[in-house]
Amino acid sequence: MIDRKATKKRVLVIPCSGIGKVHGLLSREATYLVVDELAPEETDTLCLALLVKGDPEALEEVRTHKCIAIDGCAKACAQKNVEMAGGQVGKAVQVASVLHDHRGAQPGTGSALTDDGWAIARDIATLVASEAACLRDGAEGDR
Ligand code: SF4
Repeated sequence: MIDRKATKKRVLVIPCSGIGKVHGLLSREATYLVVDELAPEETDTLCLALLVKGDPEALEEVRTHKCIAIDGCAKACAQKNVEMAGGQVGKAVQVASVLHDHRGAQPGTGSALTDDGWAIARDIATLVASEAACLRDGAEGDR
């Protein structure tokens, strides 16, 4: 549960819930790297399924925080559900596009990342943490 008072200015990093391919796992592991390691004071996350089912508290969270979506593929489930919930996606990342820049890499499976996969997850997380810092700076005046 998000402590609203403590996280008023945090950026929400929301991964898709893709299962069965490495793309969804990369989106989630990259998210954890951001919120647990790279920017724990500046970011937070929430469960995409809560938005999909219309959970009132989750809807309020995305409407009152800047959001970054990390999606496995171009179907962009996280981005679209944040937007349908009335949230603002300040940056949308698609793992499939990132993988195009890592041709030949063997990132792993839907259940486990390889060393290549962890390196890619960290690349995504570094990008997202940087984008979150920019969004927070831009949001300082309106929060
Ligand atoms: S964005 Fe792609 S990988 Fe993620 S949940 Fe949607 S269809 Fe699955």
